[in-house]
Amino acid sequence: MSDAIRTACPYCGVGCGVLATPDGRGGAAIAGDPAHPANFGRLCSKGSALGETLSLDDRLLTPRIGGREATWDAALELTARRFREAIEEHGPESVALYVSGQLLTEDYYVANKLMKGYVGSANIDTNSRLCMASAVAAYRRAFGTDTVPTCYEDLEQADLVVLVGSNLAWCHPVIYQRLAAAKAARPEMRVVTIDPRRTATSDLADLHLGVRPGADAALFNALLARIEADGAVDCEYVSNHTEGLPAALREARGWDVARTAEATGLAPADVEAFLSLWVRREKVVTLWSQGINQSSSGADKGNAIINCHLATGRIGRPGMGPFSMTGQPNAMGGREVGGLANMLAAHLDLEVPEHRAAVQGFWASPAMAERPGLKAVDLFRACAEGRIKALWIMSTNPVVSMPDADAVRDAIRAVPFVAVSEVVASSDTGNEADVLFPAAAWGEKSGTVTNSERRITRQRAFLPPPGQARPDWKIVCDVASRMGFADAFAFESAADVFREHAALSRLAGALGRDFDISARADVADAAYDAMEPFQWPAGPEGGKARFFADGRFYTPSGRARFVAVTPRAPASRLSERFPLRFNTGRVRDHWHTLTRTAKSPRLSQHIAEPYLEIHPADARRCGLAPADVARVRSREGEALLRVLVTSRTPEGAVFAPMHWTGELSSAGRVDAVVRAEVDPVSGQPELKGSAVRVEKF
Ligand code: SF4
Repeated sequence: MSDAIRTACPYCGVGCGVLATPDGRGGAAIAGDPAHPANFGRLCSKGSALGETLSLDDRLLTPRIGGREATWDAALELTARRFREAIEEHGPESVALYVSGQLLTEDYYVANKLMKGYVGSANIDTNSRLCMASAVAAYRRAFGTDTVPTCYEDLEQADLVVLVGSNLAWCHPVIYQRLAAAKAARPEMRVVTIDPRRTATSDLADLHLGVRPGADAALFNALLARIEADGAVDCEYVSNHTEGLPAALREARGWDVARTAEATGLAPADVEAFLSLWVRREKVVTLWSQGINQSSSGADKGNAIINCHLATGRIGRPGMGPFSMTGQPNAMGGREVGGLANMLAAHLDLEVPEHRAAVQGFWASPAMAERPGLKAVDLFRACAEGRIKALWIMSTNPVVSMPDADAVRDAIRAVPFVAVSEVVASSDTGNEADVLFPAAAWGEKSGTVTNSERRITRQRAFLPPPGQARPDWKIVCDVASRMGFADAFAFESAADVFREHAALSRLAGALGRDFDISARADVADAAYDAMEPFQWPAGPEGGKARFFADGRFYTPSGRARFVAVTPRAPASRLSERFPLRFNTGRVRDHWHTLTRTAKSPRLSQHIAEPYLEIHPADARRCGLAPADVARVRSREGEALLRVLVTSRTPEGAVFAPMHWTGELSSAGRVDAVVRAEVDPVSGQPELKGSAVRVEKF
């Protein structure tokens, strides 16, 4: 056995450090990295089973054109030519990239540079749109930048941790373990969960609020009103460092306990208990995840939470602040390089001419995007309408994961040329491709990822890429070169890409932005290889674990902005025909569309098939008994799911996991049921609020 390689887990946004010890036969022993500050040696069930997921059984090992094996030259040349021709004939807005929070930052950087700086279109969006876009929008509205102000230690130091729309125990298990350990060490710590479902996470809670789906903003408006009524506003902080509190309070004041209880479906005593607990404990972290973000009012909900922290000045100091947990391993890295259609790079703004000019100068780009591109849902609608002539999908499976998934499959079929970068030979999306590029997988490629607390960690290769697989950054550069941009994409290694990314962030720092890692811009190859995990910023002013204790924000006025929030119900209306809310989410032991986790029998033992959680009263009304097969229908599509009758899901709502694909069980492809409603601010789809009906199959 050779020595262990230090790398990072490829699954969730906790970003755990992993020790991988290759066995010389294509496998590896996996352990938690005791020196990594996210997990200190812990791993969850998924991370610890990584060694069981390394087989090459279903891997894509050579490029394919039209389903047949092809040479790299032919696949690259065809892709470059079809993109060039589309741009020449129909303009830069006729091509698009749809990428992924699974990509490494270096992959993301070159993809974004190609589209925004060389094609001249911002039509590059990512599956992070499904994950974090509402949190990004909330941060940008409040702080002027996409800045997560908190860190993991805050969760351990807090006296009150409020988990909103987050099943931390299953979706971010190691952070849940850290929180549980902190609570065990300090029993006076209080935990509140706010979630329509009673989940494994609620088991840790002193108070569980089974809020009505979509009603979270009413609860946080009530909290803002209570903060004022109890004299808990930090007047000095508010008057010196913020703007807009009066308007936010005007919206909030009407939310007294009785009205809030009515709107949220909670008992008045529970609302009261939450409000007084939050106001009385200074050290409070309010953590949220997809239950807030995946909503047609997700940005407003995020701002309703942030408002409460700004009003009390509980931000940027140990043990307090608003905290969004990212779903994916590198959602944050993608945000840092501007991998969303409405962002630039290094947290610079596409809409600000000075920022655009600075990036264009740095990239020496011939054609700079000047306006935001198509966000995920709109991007696939543009495909369906024939406006996209060439599409490249990397490291994600939108035919399974996008809302209205059947329509997305049809939309992809309507695009004249589709390239897909994939690790597996057969997938719902890859099967629609004209060109398939074999991408290197976790353990075979190198680069960096950023976790939820802004910590950048090296992912290191410990196995050779199989067959002809290549890293994603290399595939992008090879296509870019053939499109005529060889000089700008002459990177020889991931380290090369990282250096340019870090150098660009110097520019952002000089423009007064938050994302500055320029201290790493001159890192030599050996130092990049050995780079320890670090939190950004890492610029001339050094690092910091938290933002905003100093009251300096990145808005034009330098003040944080309150956002006045009017609570809104989910966009999809309940009706006699579709009377139930459809909530989708993750299970503990699977990841995304099962590409990796389904290889581990141990992981599949936990939950082996797609299922539907339904309340006993709803099950009775629908004529369903435990273990029946239910048909879930919406106007968009249907899925067949095994029935799990449980009162952990509230009456009037049903829940299903989102992992199962057409490859494994077309019946369980639940996003075919989900309506493509989006948040008007963030563009994030409402994956937890579709109106459905359920019947026995
Ligand atoms: Fe991987 Fe997340 Fe589990 Fe850590 S908590 S081992 S990052 S899946």
